[in-house]
Amino acid sequence: MTERFKNKTVIVTGGASGIGESTVIEFAKEGANVVISDISTTGEKLSKKLNADGYETVFIKADVSNEDEVEHLVDSTVEKYGQLDVFFANAGIAIFSLIHETDYSDWKKIIDINLNGVFLCNKYAITQMLKQENGGAIVNADSIHGFVGRKTLGAYGATKGGVKLLTQTASAEYSSRGIRINNVNPGYIETPLLKDLSTEEKQELVALHPIGRLGRPEEVAKTVLFLASDDASFITGASLLVDGGYTAV
Ligand code: NAD
Repeated sequence: MTERFKNKTVIVTGGASGIGESTVIEFAKEGANVVISDISTTGEKLSKKLNADGYETVFIKADVSNEDEVEHLVDSTVEKYGQLDVFFANAGIAIFSLIHETDYSDWKKIIDINLNGVFLCNKYAITQMLKQENGGAIVNADSIHGFVGRKTLGAYGATKGGVKLLTQTASAEYSSRGIRINNVNPGYIETPLLKDLSTEEKQELVALHPIGRLGRPEEVAKTVLFLASDDASFITGASLLVDGGYTAV
């Protein structure tokens, strides 16, 4: 196993479940100090388990839609490990609802977590990385729905389209200062995010991926590590599709 992230410090938001959890495990295996952050304290259990296996992780609870908590997350990370090399802004939620049936409160909630949350994470990660000699790398969790729409995903797609342009703008502002910022754009991945879909609805989704199945969280995690690593040293402002061909057809 290569250790591309030895002596590097990484924050993963939404790190307690799904894609975030898988990414935490991959970063830990590659030698990083991993800060597992989540609104759910199940991240604490994951941290204990990984530390018992000899990895270096810590859990810091934070709601990404709360500015003070995001600032505290970055500050506590730097206090503990001295720097912040990688930020994976992954925390997110989904709602499946036609636009005319979407409650305004649900619209505001998803914007607050998926878009405002990514903005806050980028703002405080960049503020820290600008102070460091070696800059850093940020990966934002986007989606195929940053590229294409689908019925019932008006609110979700609005957040992911926003993240795509936020990332492009951030790359224009900070790439020359040693900070690379990219998106990972998964197709449908088997995680608790899809828990509200029926088996039939999932089968419909499978048919939309030419590869003939939904994705696995570790397939996204490995792409996140690539984007965060020096292997991607000339990649910034990109949106990398990990979608089994969903957007190809
Ligand atoms: P998941 O539900 O398995 O995990 C999301 C995690 O985010 C959970 O641990 C949850 O507690 C946490 N979270 C929710 N609200 C939070 C908040 N306010 N502050 C901090 N943490 C919060 O979902 P997942 O499938 O792993 O999704 C992770 C990211 O990937 C999301 O941004 C999602 O939009 C994106 N994504 C997922 C898929 C998919 O099909 N699963 C596809 C494309 C993009």
